[in-house]
Amino acid sequence: MYYHVDGDLVDREDATVHVDDRGFRYGDAAFETCRAYGGEVFLWDRHRERLAETCRLLGMAEAVPEDLQGRIDETLQANGYADAYIRVSVSRGVQSGKLTPGPATDPTVVVYAKPLPRGGGDGENCWETDATVHTVETRRPPESVLPSAAKTHNYLNGILARIELRGTAADEALMCDTEGAVAEGATSNVFFVEEGTLKTPAKGALLPGITRATVLSLAESEGIPVEEGRYRPADIEAADEAFLTNTTWEVRPIATVDGTTVGGGETTRRLSRAYDELVETRCY
Ligand code: PMP
Repeated sequence: MYYHVDGDLVDREDATVHVDDRGFRYGDAAFETCRAYGGEVFLWDRHRERLAETCRLLGMAEAVPEDLQGRIDETLQANGYADAYIRVSVSRGVQSGKLTPGPATDPTVVVYAKPLPRGGGDGENCWETDATVHTVETRRPPESVLPSAAKTHNYLNGILARIELRGTAADEALMCDTEGAVAEGATSNVFFVEEGTLKTPAKGALLPGITRATVLSLAESEGIPVEEGRYRPADIEAADEAFLTNTTWEVRPIATVDGTTVGGGETTRRLSRAYDELVETRCY
């Protein structure tokens, strides 16, 4: 299995990063997770844009390599993967041991991929069951603490949320903002349907997911009314349908919230089918 490290394809065993790397030391790094279907990275322009935006927010706009897409393609080809999960990390690199960062003139850039087949349509999903969701105490940090549009190596907030799931049967944490309004899952955005209207938390203390934006625009094309607002976990529990989105899961129905059955439904299926079509035709 080959990884791409700092411009070279290397065996996984040789894919190492220095202990003085700021990504390791402080989580001072940007990353993206993408999916390739048929050898092509789905919505690559949007992932590239978000990576660039994260690097800009971290004051290291210069760190994103020009040939990043080429490095991803090489990784897929070297491993013989057509349908894959891809992770791209760009850290500020190895710098002297002080917190204040220097310019990212020598960033560490890692690409790795693993096979992730897609059934599509009525085929298999990479998740085995609909999601079981549990509302956790850990809150999403407000914009004034960490810019929510930045997808960085600092995932401790989500990790703490997932730790709270221990001892529950849930597989995704429902996280609120510091005022108790629903924000998102630990690695997913959340949607629900109430009387035919698709609802999702408005941007704020949440990562504006690429799948979230895609689903919102599919809803518009499908003529499904959409509302972005502030909701309580109880609103999702009482919803007619609910689902999670992220690049890996695509559209994943929520089976239960805090033990209450919700489930997918007609709107979830419509959006899921529209997403399938987008993956198949790549007309976006
Ligand atoms: N929120 C968080 C915290 C995430 O980690 C992810 C996964 N990247 C998402 C939402 C969904 O984002 P996307 O649809 O871009 O995968």
